[in-house]
Amino acid sequence: MQRPYNFSAGPAAIPEDVLRQAASEMLDWHGSGMGVMEMSHRGKEFISIYEAAEAGLRSLLAVPPEFKILFMQGGGLAENAIVPLNLSRAAGVDFVVTGSWSQKSQKEARKYAAEVNIAASGEASGFTTLPDPASWTPSVGASYLHICSNETINGVEFHELPDLKALGSDAPLVIDFSSHVASRPVDWSRVGLAFGGAQKNLGPAGLTIVVVREDLIGQALPACPSAFDYQLVADNRSMYNTPPTWGIYMAGLVFDWLARQSEGEGAGEVRGIAAMERRNIAKAELLYGAVDGSGLYYNKVAPNCRSRMNVPFFLRDEALNDAFLAGARERGLLQLKGHKSVGGMRASIYNAMPLAGVQALVDYLREFEKTRA
Ligand SMILES: *Cc1c(COP(=O)(O)O)cnc(C)c1O
Repeated sequence: MQRPYNFSAGPAAIPEDVLRQAASEMLDWHGSGMGVMEMSHRGKEFISIYEAAEAGLRSLLAVPPEFKILFMQGGGLAENAIVPLNLSRAAGVDFVVTGSWSQKSQKEARKYAAEVNIAASGEASGFTTLPDPASWTPSVGASYLHICSNETINGVEFHELPDLKALGSDAPLVIDFSSHVASRPVDWSRVGLAFGGAQKNLGPAGLTIVVVREDLIGQALPACPSAFDYQLVADNRSMYNTPPTWGIYMAGLVFDWLARQSEGEGAGEVRGIAAMERRNIAKAELLYGAVDGSGLYYNKVAPNCRSRMNVPFFLRDEALNDAFLAGARERGLLQLKGHKSVGGMRASIYNAMPLAGVQALVDYLREFEKTRA
């Protein structure tokens, strides 16, 4: 039986193969007589799960050896505090504000950093465009510059990470990649730290991934909670305290699933993240094309910075919103209601959403428009 297509922004759909595998291992993981949730995090069974998950992520995202991978708790929001606690060195920090999430991040950083400089903002456009990096004004001596590389609520995405050195800044780049991690490759030569909650693209809520360049850690502020001190977490291989064991296991299954994905044939075949990127581009083109080509729906974001993961769209007649959502639910198209701060609709089409799911949504968009014409 075909499960409904779930367009939730997060916690979001998980590949069905992964859910089935987790279900089949729920009571007895690999003949151990235990489910993963019941295992000691220090036992050999869980250590092997942890090591496979870490190696899986490192290989998928081509994380260089000088970066540590940390499996933490607290979500993206906690990282808004944990990053300045670890990296600000009580100096100034820079932010580029491109939507709700980076806005939240810079507010939180004010509690810990000596100064927060807004190096650029997309607010004047209502966050429908990204400020051109050439226009940014990074401050001298900032401890880091933070961006949200995919704004989940506003639907804007950096298709290329900024090269801060080319902008005359020595600051390491911090990216919040919660909502597009593993949807495309990462250019680590431009990144100092990347963090993301798992519940959009990697697995269940409760696991937070941090990938950080070694030389940036070890200078946490004295007030930093020990459990959130990147150096302590790294030295203890994410086992300073009990890590989110179930989330790590599930993310490990998702990494295996991602590694198995392929697109194209013969010499043109690509696998893993390259395959996901190709598929995600095709999905996004299909959906934006249908929205742009219609008389009923529209999207406000400038085409060159539209998110491939989160597609907010509106009905020209807002009075039809409830009927649209009810019809969608009837067809097994779930969780399309937009974020309360933006309104309208939002289709989140993360890695776990197949092209067929986007096609089903596009078919429904056309059908609904026809019945209202
Ligand atoms: C969902 C999300 C967060 C918040 O994550 P929590 O786990 O709820 O703290 C932060 N940043 C971005 C870009 C997100 O999409």
